[in-house]
Amino acid sequence: MPKFSKTSETRLSTCHPDLQAVCRELIKQYDFTVLCGHRGKAEQNAAFDAGNSRLIYPQSKHNAKPSLALDIAPSPIDWGNLYRFREMLHRFDALARLMRERGEIESEFEYGADWESFKDYPHVEIKTKEN
Ligand SMILES: [Zn+2]
Repeated sequence: MPKFSKTSETRLSTCHPDLQAVCRELIKQYDFTVLCGHRGKAEQNAAFDAGNSRLIYPQSKHNAKPSLALDIAPSPIDWGNLYRFREMLHRFDALARLMRERGEIESEFEYGADWESFKDYPHVEIKTKEN
């Protein structure tokens, strides 16, 4: 059974409990890495400058505490294989639905892979009233 590395675990621990809950179930059936949870001001603006985020601090859901967004990637990471990202997100979403039905989580999620203007394949965020 796959499990999180220490680094993934540390990043995941900065995230909203519902994001953590789905990831802790998903890792039992699918090996993936947590690339990023909470981002502080310097990290967010660096991500913006690098073109990895459209938003400056504190507009990203990564800037909330706990973080309302996280970035994940299938292990081992292959940025050229977007099919694997879609597969991972499909599994994440199926699990999230099941856990909502069971009352284990309340959140609904939005996926950066579904965005039209800025495809952000690793990005998962909690839907809030603004979106
Ligand atoms: Zn993200």
